[in-house]
Amino acid sequence: VPLFTDRPPTIWAMVEAAVARNGDGEALVCGAVRLSWRQVADAAARIASGLHAKGLCRGDRLALLLGNRIEFVLTLLAAAKLGLVTVLLSTRQQTPEIAYVLNDCGARLLLHEAALAGRLPAGDVTPELAGRIAVDDDPARSGFAALTDQPVHSERVEIAEEDTAMILYTSGTTGRPKGAMLAHCNIVHSSMIYEACLGLTAADRSIAAVPLGHVTGVVANITSMVRCAGTLIIMPEFKAGDYLKLAARERVTYTVMVPAMYNLCLLQLDFDSHDLSSWRIGGFGGAPMPVATIERLAAKIPGLRLVNAYGSTETTSPSTLMPPVLTARHLDSVGLPCPGASILVMDADGRELPRGEIGEIWIGGGQVIKGYWNRPDATAESFTAGYWHSGDLGSIDADNFVRVFDRQKDMINRGGLKIYSAEVESVLASHPAVVESAIIARPCPVLGERVHAVVVTREPTSSETLRSWCAERLSDYKVPETLIVTPDPLPRNANGKVMKRQLREALTA
Ligand code: ATP
Repeated sequence: VPLFTDRPPTIWAMVEAAVARNGDGEALVCGAVRLSWRQVADAAARIASGLHAKGLCRGDRLALLLGNRIEFVLTLLAAAKLGLVTVLLSTRQQTPEIAYVLNDCGARLLLHEAALAGRLPAGDVTPELAGRIAVDDDPARSGFAALTDQPVHSERVEIAEEDTAMILYTSGTTGRPKGAMLAHCNIVHSSMIYEACLGLTAADRSIAAVPLGHVTGVVANITSMVRCAGTLIIMPEFKAGDYLKLAARERVTYTVMVPAMYNLCLLQLDFDSHDLSSWRIGGFGGAPMPVATIERLAAKIPGLRLVNAYGSTETTSPSTLMPPVLTARHLDSVGLPCPGASILVMDADGRELPRGEIGEIWIGGGQVIKGYWNRPDATAESFTAGYWHSGDLGSIDADNFVRVFDRQKDMINRGGLKIYSAEVESVLASHPAVVESAIIARPCPVLGERVHAVVVTREPTSSETLRSWCAERLSDYKVPETLIVTPDPLPRNANGKVMKRQLREALTA
């Protein structure tokens, strides 16, 4: 794999290469809008000038609270040209979560969906925040045009490959969310891995159906398409039926989605009526994919190469990928380490385990980030000599295939969206009636897992009251979908640790 052929390996260098390679080729499609790579580069350059005119300089943080829309991609590329650090918020976040991120990263400017204005924290959340710009399809409600009508600022900003390009927040097993700092070189590295390992070219057409504000959206969807100068078709909101129609109409060749989205597609009764013959690569990751789903998809779309991609925000998307030729005995694996990635399986004392044994997966290589924004403590805890401690339990077999069996981190994986129990438990603990709580996973055939809460209260309190309490403070997908209120203390082991396994067994009994 030709790594780092761009000099310097920055996101904007990839945009320039896409213009040189396929300037008039279709780059971005969203609804009725179709832009070529040259138009994308011109628009991004104008937005970069607009951001510069607002006083933003290399290293400043620009927060985006935007859904899947063309402005998201253009602004991301513009910020990369100017050397800004783009901080990605999720449109599902609630006011306290948004306020936390804006404060933590010291955002200078916020671009937000006009429709989400009511969810923004009131007043000056952070002294650095100099402005907010609403973005909307309706020009009357949108301040975005003000950014694009600037004369292009031709001065070139020197950007080092190690510069942080983006910050994506991930929650953890304890304490506050941490900002994972993705450097330009991490993103270029991962984009090149997708291009080289999946054989992506300018003829590829991809649908961005996952939320763009997550690592899969940014790298597997946006920057991998920049890298190969192909076409990215943006879906504002995933609906399985619409996805199948769009894939057929746009002659899609490549997508990366989470397993739940494939499950939902397979549930469509008219699946077989869509001509999906152009679709050659179906990437999936973010959560385990049932082998039965892989087999059903392979049977329905014979030309489709299904590619498991195992990774995380800290590894800038993939650390393993499924090779092109698959044998049945490897179907339950997450594939082989990507070129340049090193995967170790470690015991609890940080010693490497022999092949075949199960332990914690540690991941090293050019796509692994340096650490978390302003959090040397959390960085030291999660990284050793450039290896990220995944918290996943797995093994590597004699053929180098990696398997992920379980996880040791106290997290719920709801269709690829991660919910850290500690975050929900701490919101519940702030309710005056709550003594303690335990967040556990409830198995679900479509989403994999759903959030369930067992809450001990000091006085009778309805589950609806507690769910509303969570809904005001947490992203909708983190709110317990089922919640049991009990006066009895939670079961604990001799060390005082809540025995979640026992609660899970009681739930599924
Ligand atoms: P995104 O946030 O865009 O969905 P992501 O899931 O790759 O990207 P994170 O949200 O940081 O990244 O979550 C990483 C965790 O997701 C991994 O540590 C692992 O637990 C789980 N995971 C990711 N890919 C797979 C996979 N292919 N198979 C099983 N579990 C996976």
